[in-house]
Amino acid sequence: MARGVDARDHPLLQRTQGRTRRAPADGLIARATSCGSLRSLGGQDCPSAVIAENDLALSFVRDDRLDGYSYVIPKRHVPLLADLRDDEASAVMTMIRQLATAITSELRPDGLNVFQNNGIVANQTVPHVHFHVAPRTVEQMATWTPASDAWSGAVQPVEPRRELAQRFARHLP
Ligand SMILES: [Zn+2]
Repeated sequence: MARGVDARDHPLLQRTQGRTRRAPADGLIARATSCGSLRSLGGQDCPSAVIAENDLALSFVRDDRLDGYSYVIPKRHVPLLADLRDDEASAVMTMIRQLATAITSELRPDGLNVFQNNGIVANQTVPHVHFHVAPRTVEQMATWTPASDAWSGAVQPVEPRRELAQRFARHLP
């Protein structure tokens, strides 16, 4: 498990086992750091690298990458995809589309992955629904494996992450 998550205490695993213990509900979050799960996803500096935000969804630059890899999340704390309300799902997908377009316009990658790991056996290590928006290059193609996207632990300084977020934000409607 990444980031020191103990599988025995993982809320998604416990849910899989039929129990109902979940991550603490924190309601609507004004900033990503108000969610304990997101602190482990994006680090304490997460708000400084926010790309876009509305009432329901939020996007931010991944803390250990400066290649454009970003996340889109619902603001409300929910662990799994099926927990999203329709309006949240719509807001999240709209933000994903806009962000993917912005990243493509700004960085001109050769391709781009959008994916969501749903459940502990699907390699979801942070129990707050999050979509990966990952630009890819031809050079990465030769060596890329799913493990390439594991959190490296090397949190990048907030300034370049914020700069990247601002560059993407300029392309948003
Ligand atoms: Zn959360």
